[in-house]
Amino acid sequence: MRYVTRLLSVCVVLTCMIISVGAQTSSARTTAIKAGRLIDPETATVATNQVILLEGERIKAVGPNLAIPAGATIIDLSKLTVLPGLVDSHTHMALTYKEQPENNYYYLTFVMESTALRAIQAASNGIQLLNSGFTVVRDVGNNAMYADTALRQAIEQGWLPGPTVIPSGAIIGSTGGQFWPTPEMYKDHKMMFPEYIDADTPGEIVKAIRQNMLFGARTIKLCIDCKPWGYSVDDIKLAISEAAKGGCKVEGHVQTADGAQRAIDAGIYIIGHGNALTPEHHRQMAAKGIFLAGTDTPFTKYRGTEAAFKQTVAKLRDAWEKKVPLTFSTDFDYWNERMKDDKTGRWLTRGEMTIAFLDTWKAANIPPADILRAITINGYKAADVIKERGPIKPGLFADLIAVAGDPLTDIDALRNVLFVMKNGMVFKKDGVMTPENFFHPGPVRTPNGRWTR
Ligand SMILES: [Zn+2]
Repeated sequence: MRYVTRLLSVCVVLTCMIISVGAQTSSARTTAIKAGRLIDPETATVATNQVILLEGERIKAVGPNLAIPAGATIIDLSKLTVLPGLVDSHTHMALTYKEQPENNYYYLTFVMESTALRAIQAASNGIQLLNSGFTVVRDVGNNAMYADTALRQAIEQGWLPGPTVIPSGAIIGSTGGQFWPTPEMYKDHKMMFPEYIDADTPGEIVKAIRQNMLFGARTIKLCIDCKPWGYSVDDIKLAISEAAKGGCKVEGHVQTADGAQRAIDAGIYIIGHGNALTPEHHRQMAAKGIFLAGTDTPFTKYRGTEAAFKQTVAKLRDAWEKKVPLTFSTDFDYWNERMKDDKTGRWLTRGEMTIAFLDTWKAANIPPADILRAITINGYKAADVIKERGPIKPGLFADLIAVAGDPLTDIDALRNVLFVMKNGMVFKKDGVMTPENFFHPGPVRTPNGRWTR
């Protein structure tokens, strides 16, 4: 017994040595960022002339008078405002339905575009979002055959740059999901999967959640009320407890007042889409701390109507007044030929159109400090990454951006992100993408020390 114990302790020492050698190798790179202004969105405060010291991928120290070690790479952002990276808490990178040829009907996109094509679209959208400062993205379904979880893995392993992706895998719904297929398409051609998993019974709900987690999901998305036979409070509670076994939180897609009430009663983590929510729902969500991913679409020349926009603004305003934990979210999954810059005529990027959702928040007269908290801190919490990344604090991954101006007084400063760092590596500087260090012909990072999903 004693021998075994001694052997074990030797093993522990050896393991520690291996881990520390590994840590030393990856932390050999020391970087010092000089930040002219540094925003803490949690407290809505600014500190001037700060130094952020990094070791490898992580933040080591933050302060005004830190000694910069000899040999450190110095990044001078002393003329800029530095802040944590941004979060889109509800988007769809692997779906882009178009006016032509599918008349904005994504059932046809599903039929006409391969999983491989949609996976490449997702990779491109991820790069475009990172270029606009989005370092975390919750990607919640309609993602082809697990292209979302594959993209998460590829970014984590170091094949290409992109935000930290929190993918849901396939959306789980009761018979039909959000589709209305014909009998032959449904029964003979099995048209639901992989866009949706039909899960009606408790056993099917459990199995669907386990399958998504097995294939790499980091959150679970339920259609609460996409059909009149949607999920009951008990169904949703079952989903929440099953998802928790794999470390996943649950978002409910909600489109009716009854569905919203069931999701709230079950204690869901996030409600997706604010359209169906009443002031009473907002009051209950605030009391329970349920996040809202309202997907607050602005009225632009390429999307929306004035009437819908007015309603969206009023709902967002009420949710803010009731103190619902708000996230910044878009539901972006479309494209058309009007998506061009007015002045130059060049195509708008997915990132530019995502940050344009600020229009809705400004129209709702939400103070910049609260918008900033929604698009950062609340986003990290909703994505459940805040212990690992987000805030600019020692020990966390170094994901940060820099802008000219002050987003705490003028939120539009976020529309022009000049500098982006992800995992301690510079992705963009002086307004120009410099992504070469992110591309590799093989997996160079081992998140969690393993190659599994
Ligand atoms: Zn959505």
